[in-house]
Amino acid sequence: MNNKQQTAVAASALAVGAALIARRLRSGRAIRFHNRSVVITGGSRGLGLLIARELGREGARLTLAARDRAELERARQDLASRSIEASIITCDVGDRGQAERLVDEVVTQRGTIDVLINNAGIIQVGPLEHMKLRDFQDAMATHFWGPLHTILAAVPAMRRNGGGRIVNISSIGGKIGVPHLAPYCASKFALTGLSDSVRGELAKDNILVTTVCPGMMRTGSPFNGWFKGRHRDEFTWFAISDSLPLATIDGTRAARQIIDACRYGDAELVITWPAKLAVIANAVLPEAVALGMSIANQLLPRPTNESGDQARSGWQSLSDWAPSKLTTLTDRAAAQNNELPH
Ligand code: NDP
Repeated sequence: MNNKQQTAVAASALAVGAALIARRLRSGRAIRFHNRSVVITGGSRGLGLLIARELGREGARLTLAARDRAELERARQDLASRSIEASIITCDVGDRGQAERLVDEVVTQRGTIDVLINNAGIIQVGPLEHMKLRDFQDAMATHFWGPLHTILAAVPAMRRNGGGRIVNISSIGGKIGVPHLAPYCASKFALTGLSDSVRGELAKDNILVTTVCPGMMRTGSPFNGWFKGRHRDEFTWFAISDSLPLATIDGTRAARQIIDACRYGDAELVITWPAKLAVIANAVLPEAVALGMSIANQLLPRPTNESGDQARSGWQSLSDWAPSKLTTLTDRAAAQNNELPH
């Protein structure tokens, strides 16, 4: 064997050794969810409800939080029909007092919080021309201040308990800026930064923090999103993109991946292959990604007159194309995941 071959063999052996050690360390961090007190913000529908169904099957003691009491009650009944018990608490996580009360109530009811899943989210779609300061403030309140409020409130209880797990559901939009999603992306970048930075500081307290950056998941949420500008056109492209089988992932599969990342205390989870490739492309070829985004922007609906400043929900933005055969997967997910209006 010549020198080059020896170096290649040594490097391969090191890589295999490192992978084996990493795997061993990962399985050493595994927890069981049975009897654990788990709080899921945004647990009333979509991904939060899917995570609740999966964790409920593993015997977790669940608390779901969201703003709409009736929707939370329907989520509770959905879980009860699957023999899963859950407490529900009405809470706007963007309000610090409400987030603190949520944590206090859970600690009083359950004794502690073992797992905090910051999943609450809003989607606002439209061109920058129609986005107002208020849209950015709302996005920051939900995606940045909300998780910060719950983390600051829950960490003392976790420390007293000898540790815990925190999962922050950011987004691929928290890694790459996407046109027509400026408030969403800006606030998800803030959440990614918060999540990644507290991870290092809380590890010493045995609190493991996982940052989750999903690509498009079929949770059924486009109907409950908010659309500005040519709102019907914006809803149409968004709902059709959300239904593309190869570009998106089934919500239940995504929920299972998230639960596994939490179980093993993984630092980061990027969900869907398109999202993983986009993260790599953005790191290696930022100019090409920027060009791609500017081309995509040209293809998206143009801004309109001042009527476009008003945000309309997905339900108020239905078009000939959405719902249609092209959005079948999203429509089905909406029916399954408590996304329909009552
Ligand atoms: P949904 O719209 O279906 O669910 C959002 C949930 O958050 C609802 O329960 C909603 O209830 C709650 N919520 C919103 N604002 C607040 C608030 N201020 N305080 C408390 N609860 C709130 O969305 P998804 O299930 O699709 O998304 C879940 C998470 O995943 C979000 O953070 C989203 O950004 C993220 N994500 C989703 C992707 C997708 O393709 N679906 C892709 C990448 C990330 P209520 O309105 O009653 O408060």
